[in-house]
Amino acid sequence: MAKKESKAKIKPVTNETSFSFLKEYINTPSPVGFESSGQKVWLNYIKNYVDTTFSDAYGTAVGVINPEANFKVVIEAHADEISWFVNYISEQGLIYLKRNGGVDHQIAPAMRVIIHGKNGPLKAVFGWPAIHTRHSGSEPKEPQPKPDNLFLDCGARNKKEAEALGIHIGAVVTYQDGFDELSNNYLIGRAFDNRVGGFMIAEVARLIRQNKNKLPFGLYVVNAVQEEIGLRGAEMIARRIKPNVAIVTDVTHDTTTPMINKIVEGDIACAKGPALAYAPAVHNKLLAFVEDVAGKKKIPLQWRTLSRTTGTDTDSFAYANDGCPSVLISIPLRYMHTTVEMLHRDDIENTIRLMYETLVALTPATNLSYL
Ligand SMILES: [Zn+2]
Repeated sequence: MAKKESKAKIKPVTNETSFSFLKEYINTPSPVGFESSGQKVWLNYIKNYVDTTFSDAYGTAVGVINPEANFKVVIEAHADEISWFVNYISEQGLIYLKRNGGVDHQIAPAMRVIIHGKNGPLKAVFGWPAIHTRHSGSEPKEPQPKPDNLFLDCGARNKKEAEALGIHIGAVVTYQDGFDELSNNYLIGRAFDNRVGGFMIAEVARLIRQNKNKLPFGLYVVNAVQEEIGLRGAEMIARRIKPNVAIVTDVTHDTTTPMINKIVEGDIACAKGPALAYAPAVHNKLLAFVEDVAGKKKIPLQWRTLSRTTGTDTDSFAYANDGCPSVLISIPLRYMHTTVEMLHRDDIENTIRLMYETLVALTPATNLSYL
């Protein structure tokens, strides 16, 4: 018979100050390719807990502890938020869009957005025909939202008026919905994928600094740009840092909500701890090391498998340079790529703890050789 599990509440590692940073960070638009506003908020927080910071040409931001060390360990998240691009302005002043990352067209009708135009942020809405007018007799089916029939209405009634408001081809567009809290320690927000990761790696740096841990390596806390369009920011910064080990964090699907097939997607749930993945890009020995740390520190884990790609920055780090032992630690999330991405606070705590405890246990002598 299984031993009854202790329900002793573990002391949270985050605090009020860190959560107000999370809230500000989540509410700051950080569209793919235009992440600077979010990166500034992130750097402003992390600079207090690292020896130095730097950024690269495309805006990936890095905080470093022990910059003089030869052995380099990366903890990484991605900073970019899926968004839209203004692609065409009609003679009626309506604005048609192109996706910038995997933004979800099915949730768009009636959403409020911000157009980041030449004159600063501008409010607009996704217009959609009224339920009364959608059945046009000859059309048997209701129209479905698609990138080529969705349009924004900002109040301009012709192209000239739209342009006078600062709207231009290539202006990025983000949804307005922001951070909020639900019952039972659930949080919702836009683009928790993966700004919760940026939050968690910053908290790991804060814990290391505040607990006065002396790390026997250089720690590079990396908030990479342009993940959502092909893991590009990680690719650039991996080549620059040339790390010896990379610990990557991203979100993964909670597969217990309706209309998801567990046989295909695996069995992962919010509030049950971070998920580790087996995948060719995930280094087996490093994975076993992280699993061992979780066991010793009583951090709950969930498991999944990935094959040809992990679809995360893990791929960029693993295959950069001469090959870098990399591991993926994912936080379960409901409703990915919608404006109500949902997380459980315990998973944030446990993912931070798992990264922190792994770093405290790791040394340059940790044996990661396969053969
Ligand atoms: Zn994503």
